[in-house]
Amino acid sequence: MEEFDHKITTFGIRNRILIFALVVALIPSLSLGWAFHTQTQKLLQEKVELELHSIINSAQREAGLWFKEHTVNMRVFSNSFVISENLEQFANLNKREESNTTEQMATTIAILSEYLMLVQSQFQEYKQLLLLDDTGKVIAQNSKNNTPFTLPDNWEEQLAQHKMIIGETDASGASTEATFLLAIPVFSHKQVFLGLLATETSLNGLQSVMKSVALSQSTKLSLLNRDGSILGSTIQADTPESITHSGNDSLKNLYANPMKLSTYMSSNDKKVVGVFALLPHLSWGILMEKDYDLVFAEVLKLKNITLIIIAILLTVTGIAAFFLSYSILSPLKRLIKGAGQVADGDLNVKLPVKNKDELGFTISVFNDMVVRLRNNHDELEMLATVDSLTGLTNRKHLMDTLALHMKRYARHRAPFSILMADLDHFKQVNDNYGHLAGDAVLRKVGKIFNETLRSIDTAGRYGGEEFLIILDNTGEQEAEQTAERIRKAVEESRITRDGKTIQVTISIGVATICDMVSMDDGQLIGIADKALYEAKQQGRNRIVVATIKSSE
Ligand code: GH3
Ligand code: MG
Ligand code: MG
Repeated sequence: MEEFDHKITTFGIRNRILIFALVVALIPSLSLGWAFHTQTQKLLQEKVELELHSIINSAQREAGLWFKEHTVNMRVFSNSFVISENLEQFANLNKREESNTTEQMATTIAILSEYLMLVQSQFQEYKQLLLLDDTGKVIAQNSKNNTPFTLPDNWEEQLAQHKMIIGETDASGASTEATFLLAIPVFSHKQVFLGLLATETSLNGLQSVMKSVALSQSTKLSLLNRDGSILGSTIQADTPESITHSGNDSLKNLYANPMKLSTYMSSNDKKVVGVFALLPHLSWGILMEKDYDLVFAEVLKLKNITLIIIAILLTVTGIAAFFLSYSILSPLKRLIKGAGQVADGDLNVKLPVKNKDELGFTISVFNDMVVRLRNNHDELEMLATVDSLTGLTNRKHLMDTLALHMKRYARHRAPFSILMADLDHFKQVNDNYGHLAGDAVLRKVGKIFNETLRSIDTAGRYGGEEFLIILDNTGEQEAEQTAERIRKAVEESRITRDGKTIQVTISIGVATICDMVSMDDGQLIGIADKALYEAKQQGRNRIVVATIKSSE
């Protein structure tokens, strides 16, 4: 028999369904998540930018007011009679360059110093208070230890433009307190420029003003100078902070884009968002910072929710895909198995139809196909073994069955008998009643055989009107009785044809195989044939039992 090898080697349906389900779940969830994420981030960024702007605006305003108050105070002092009078006198004495003026000059300086000390004692934020002459040289100061003091290089230019001088104090000084420099011109009553009243002022005042602005705990307001050093901030750190730690690029970026929100790493390696603005009049800026994680907490929350939703979606679609593939694959597997069985020649396959869907329909069609195939197969098999006229076993199958009995006998020595039967004067039946009537007689005889014999016996058409009957497991005596039963039944039977009654007889030769060592099927038939011939010879319608010589 031909061998078939069927194997499924392509990428399975289950994998394809799973991949499809995952892709279908991932694409919309990821793209929606991404869209929500960017949108929320944008909205939050705008919100925090607005918030920081409003704080920074009021900080700028407050700082402007603070600075204005400070300059107004300084102008009041510079206009004081003590200062202008004594400074004018000092200038006059200085011009004379006479030796006797030295004492007078010292007196003047002493008066001025005393005045400066008096003012400083009332305004603690003035770290230094000094008087300078019209060339920028220090004449008097509030402290006696002559702390070095220098005006900015462009002080004359500033004076001409703004009628005051603003500068940075030397940050390398011993004092860690942030200060700045302010100098106001002093004029005589005739409006002659006499010199400058200068202060080095603590920024503590400015810081406390800013503290009141930065109400929110999460906001850090810092005062920066041009090199990025923090002059003071609302949240005091243990170590002096500087945003230059995060690289000069972020500082440059902040200075270049005032009032623009930017994200960077702070000096303590924290991600922050910040807005920078320059202070009015001063070269410093204020930096507003907020913790990035705090500002974008909602974005992070959304990210987590999105991830959870995606995970749930993947699980649900995974399970759904599993059941879907199961519902398709389980009947498909049954179908594949059944088809394999049919391919291997098993036509007794009947698959259970569990669903009424397309696959269920396919399975029931498959079952119908197998039934049809089996019927065709059975029909063919019958055609191959059955004589079409009589319904008895045909000659070929008859000989196969006899050979099988011979083999069984050789092995088990169980005796069996054969009957060789031939209708008497059948030619005359044909001649008298016609060939069709002859056929009807043959059919009738076949029927008699079937009725007379046991199911284990085989009756077949040996040729023409000659029959061979194999009686399984039957001895001589029993065989003779059976033959007689047949003979009698044929004799007694009548066939009516066209109103005529036909009667036939039969002659039978009986041969039994028993206690024999070697004999082939041809020899056995020959013996039965001989007995049949004898029956004919003796006058027909009779039985002759062959006498077989034992080969022992
Ligand atoms: P005997 O008693 O000596 O057997 O005489 P007989 O006429 O039966 O024997 P014979 O061998 O002379 O004739 C056999 C006849 O059987 C010849 C043939 O026409 C007829 N016959 C054989 N096969 C068929 C068949 O299939 N149908 C019909 N109607 N007749 C058949
Ligand atoms: Mg005959
Ligand atoms: Mg014959």
